[in-house]
Amino acid sequence: MSAGEAKRLQGKTALVSGAAVGIGAATARRLAGEGAFVGLADVNADGAAAVAAEITSAGGQAKAFALDVTDSARWRAVVADLVDATGRLDILVNNAGIYARTPLEEIAEADWDRMLEVNAKGVFLGVQAAVPAMRSSGGGSIINISSTAGLRASVATHYGASKGAVRLITKSIAAQCAKDGIRCNSVHPGPVDTAMGHAAVPDAVKDDRLGRIPLGRFAQPEEIAGAVYFLASDDSSFVTGAEIVVDGGAFAS
Ligand code: NAD
Repeated sequence: MSAGEAKRLQGKTALVSGAAVGIGAATARRLAGEGAFVGLADVNADGAAAVAAEITSAGGQAKAFALDVTDSARWRAVVADLVDATGRLDILVNNAGIYARTPLEEIAEADWDRMLEVNAKGVFLGVQAAVPAMRSSGGGSIINISSTAGLRASVATHYGASKGAVRLITKSIAAQCAKDGIRCNSVHPGPVDTAMGHAAVPDAVKDDRLGRIPLGRFAQPEEIAGAVYFLASDDSSFVTGAEIVVDGGAFAS
């Protein structure tokens, strides 16, 4: 960005779930770097606070929140707090998620329930809490982090089911909220260089997996944040209900 050029998200307020580490932290840094006031929400409240402190010491605007995305009352409180602080809510990134590479017959009912509760219901609750505030702000952009596992078979059945749900929650919100100027899109990463990415692709299968990625490597979290930024910005003003695959070409080949 050249000196004097306006930051693209100046005056906007964003909320990112799962922002303590990985893709969420990279997204929070990117949105703040583009001028947004960013709320960083995570069950790992200390981690979110550390990233928020790093953003503010670099001259950005950020505030950390303790949030379990399965808690609807807490979602509403976090949104209310951000609106109190900044007067608006423009961008929601539903990024928090969990993963387990559990074989089909070992997935306990409680595992299934928890996976769907965090990854699918957590997204729904975030949308429900954010939409009224976005409507009052004159519109907004919701970005839901799904996965390539939400588009095709996954070795983890419950994870794939939860990410497939995210894909269709996204399209239903896009259709219902367009009249309010609210867009909603999903991002579908392949393996990303984070704790979760390495748990999903253990060393035993790494060579095989990388061999099926034309760009030949894991994504960096910042490369997912770039797609999120596009969907958050006005550059994507006619994009809603869409799915952006960010996987180094694996899905295409
Ligand atoms: P990560 O495990 O590195 O970080 C996830 C973050 O979410 C953590 O900070 C964690 O504390 C938080 N979190 C977990 N449960 C929560 C809850 N109930 N409430 C609030 N916060 C919670 O994961 P990541 O790799 O950064 O993944 C981020 C998102 O991207 C996830 O939705 C994941 O499914 C998706 N994704 C990741 C990959 C990958 O390879 N890493 C690929 C495709 C999709």
